[in-house]
Amino acid sequence: MGYSDKVRNVLQNELQGIEDAGIFKKERFIHSLQAADIEVEFPLGSSLKKVINMCSNNYLGLSSHQEVIKAAHDGLNHRGYGMSSVRFICGTQDIHRELENRVTEFLGTEDTILFPSCMDANTGVFEAFMTKEDVMISDRLVHASIIDGIRLSPALRDTFKHSNMKHLESKLQLHADRRLKVVITDGVFSMDGDTAKLDEMVALCEKYDAMLFVDDSHSSGFIGKTGRGTHEKYNVIGKIDIITTTFGKALGGASGGCVSGRKEIVEMCRQKARPYLFSNTMAPVVVSGVLKVFDLIRGNTERRDKLEENANFWRKGLSDAGFVLKDGDTPIVPVMLFNAKLAQDFSRDLYDEGIYAIGFFFPVVPKAQARIRTQISAGHEIHHLEKALKAFIKIGKKYNILGKTKKEIIAMYGR
Ligand SMILES: *Cc1c(COP(=O)(O)O)cnc(C)c1O
Repeated sequence: MGYSDKVRNVLQNELQGIEDAGIFKKERFIHSLQAADIEVEFPLGSSLKKVINMCSNNYLGLSSHQEVIKAAHDGLNHRGYGMSSVRFICGTQDIHRELENRVTEFLGTEDTILFPSCMDANTGVFEAFMTKEDVMISDRLVHASIIDGIRLSPALRDTFKHSNMKHLESKLQLHADRRLKVVITDGVFSMDGDTAKLDEMVALCEKYDAMLFVDDSHSSGFIGKTGRGTHEKYNVIGKIDIITTTFGKALGGASGGCVSGRKEIVEMCRQKARPYLFSNTMAPVVVSGVLKVFDLIRGNTERRDKLEENANFWRKGLSDAGFVLKDGDTPIVPVMLFNAKLAQDFSRDLYDEGIYAIGFFFPVVPKAQARIRTQISAGHEIHHLEKALKAFIKIGKKYNILGKTKKEIIAMYGR
């Protein structure tokens, strides 16, 4: 019984502080499948509301696809529910190896190893092959899971300013004498929707004999003309030494992740990566679903093409209406509001209009950079986007921010 009133008070005060700062997160309960149209209970206990989902990672609309569901059922029937083992003891089925080979082929790499999640892939990979003699040089906006992976590795850490190639080059020069050098970036940056300049990064890495690591969680399946990822968009397939990605977003949306790349690095992960060695194998039902996802997208760009058209329509609609957006050409379209309270109020009003899109603010994004991050899906039809656009414009007018610059919005609402 160490949970005294004093301990409880400490934590209650801390939680109150989070509420007072206006950054308390509350879950919204979806009572339907994941899709463009969902039924949501929010706040807790209220009756269900039909809304259009504008903030899921269901980029290809495959999360509830009938064929994926059927493949998952088949997997369940033929390979069971669980393996009750990590991979290296007795948790590897034929379908795990099959999925690894499919990913390798799709990404154009040498080999692949599955992890329970991409978070696990990112936390395991650096520690698995880097030592004190090495250096990790990361973009300052990389995903939180990469930051955790960097923390767990004994290698020296350094960063470069977001997408700043001059700064990266100076860091590569600074660390020229390290045994191994790894440059680390997201492919698509999840909060801003911009892409890493992989062509320039590959050239720099070749010049300074550094490896390149790319987390393509927000690109695998739809970025590039056949959806392989940012390395396809920048024409550097085969030149990325380490790619990590998730099956929890476009590729079915259930769970699971991987490290794909140079075969020695994948082998080091099999020998040493702790989330691979000490956490349960990917469930057969999920593996079966992801295999079907690759069947659906391999050699068929219909879904990623529709996603691109939808995203262009949406970005243009918001821009024409006079919203401040972040530059980019991905399905992640952040509507900038700068002020945290405004972002929350805007999100609440959207919800009243039947549009589900969440406000993001510090610490998820930098201070004074609050926003509504919208994410487009191939599961959206134009009528969804038109309805959402109407709601955004109505609320934009209410807060008088249409056609206003960043400066003007901050002058009205503060940072
Ligand atoms: C979502 C995400 C992850 C985590 O993926 P999971 O498989 O859900 O753990 C890792 N990296 C990036 C860039 C992501 O966006």
